[in-house]
Amino acid sequence: MRYISTRGQAPALTFEEAMLSGLARDGGLYVPETIPRMSGDDIRALHGLSYEETAFRVMRPFVGDGFTDEVFADLIAKAYAGFGHGARAPMVQLAPGHFLLELFHGPTLAFKDFAMQLIGQLFQEALERRGERVTIVGATSGDTGSAAIEAFKGLDNVDVFILFPHGRVSEVQRRQMTTPAEANVHALALDGHFDDCQARLKDMFNHFEFRDSVRLAGVNSINWARVLAQVVYYFSAAVSLGAPDRKVSFTVPTGNFGDIFAGYIAKKMGLPIDRLVVATNQNDILHRCLSTGDYKTSEVHPSISPSMDIQVSSNFERALFDAYGRDGAAVAQLMDELKAGGFKVSQGALEALREHFDSARVSEEDTLDTIRTAHATMGELLCPHSAVGVRVGEAQRDPATPMVTLATAHPAKFPDAVEKASGIRPPLPNRMADLYERPERVTRVRNDLAALETLIQERIAK
Ligand SMILES: *Cc1c(COP(=O)(O)O)cnc(C)c1O
Repeated sequence: MRYISTRGQAPALTFEEAMLSGLARDGGLYVPETIPRMSGDDIRALHGLSYEETAFRVMRPFVGDGFTDEVFADLIAKAYAGFGHGARAPMVQLAPGHFLLELFHGPTLAFKDFAMQLIGQLFQEALERRGERVTIVGATSGDTGSAAIEAFKGLDNVDVFILFPHGRVSEVQRRQMTTPAEANVHALALDGHFDDCQARLKDMFNHFEFRDSVRLAGVNSINWARVLAQVVYYFSAAVSLGAPDRKVSFTVPTGNFGDIFAGYIAKKMGLPIDRLVVATNQNDILHRCLSTGDYKTSEVHPSISPSMDIQVSSNFERALFDAYGRDGAAVAQLMDELKAGGFKVSQGALEALREHFDSARVSEEDTLDTIRTAHATMGELLCPHSAVGVRVGEAQRDPATPMVTLATAHPAKFPDAVEKASGIRPPLPNRMADLYERPERVTRVRNDLAALETLIQERIAK
């Protein structure tokens, strides 16, 4: 299995190389050259398997021979051992024909643990075999950073630095980043916004001298290995509702388009998915694009579902690549236009996208209302992101096809919004009940590239 860039100008890589490098050298994103298919019988054979066994069968054809079967199975087992629920991704019923897939039982209480825990294991194994060491630097508005720290803490061949905007993440998110005591973890509170964190990260990747000197690696959501790990729970959910002999639809609270793109891959592999519904908050660039064809950036409006507050949805590039018939030059052209503020999707490509994706936007008021009513009538306390999904899933489901809405974070990760809507302050799960008592360790940093690079170089020299 080889991986090619969405912009057509970078060399094809193996799974392991694509995972370790993150972004392609031409600025594009890696995608598999071909998508392996699972037959109806292959899917039927998943009935009754554990999450780990399902994960092995779904991901194996993508991974190549860098990892043996035994090693890969072992890494999967380690990745999910720390989850607080035996089913890993359990499902509850909300209403007739409407189900909630709980993706928040991992160590940092958001779905990002599914991918991050696995790539932590894959990185460690690959780096050990190669005798290499890397420096992971990530920028976060909250969930990605905590998931990355939790996944990479204590690993021998990795230092992990996470930049987050000082004073602009929730207390739970901050504490999840600042309380791990392992020496290879470095939480950096930057004086600025999330966009500043992201910009400095990009600067570091473009500063080749620095990039090579510290062996910089990226684990943000454009890393293909993260998308792949998320394909698994579409299979486990659909199979438990009767796939391959029954179609299923999914509604996904969406920001960077990584999670829902994994659903699209599951569909291309042969899973009978009917609709994939993109649910956005008031930062609705994807909904506008799928409705009108105009992909135009504007300002980010901070919301109560902050993990979906984005301007540019990076993984959408992968969907565009397919919609444009895998024409890398066409995608590169669109991304150039994006630098100047936006682009228009061609009529043919828009129709191709709409064959798979629907979309809707949810206001702040309706998000709060959904948290309130879901608690009152469905017995479910939702985080604000999941509430955006449930609002859309409930409106768009059709009686003939079960709708699964993805619950992307635990309500206790966003207690203020949940309490405001429902009057209930959700407690942290027992296994992390002492989070508020653990000592914090964080370095405050200026929004200055040279100072950041010096700090990173000094820390990893120790
Ligand atoms: C990251 C995140 C999202 C958005 O997922 P994408 O893959 O970026 O679309 C939604 N909800 C929560 C809680 C998240 O952490």
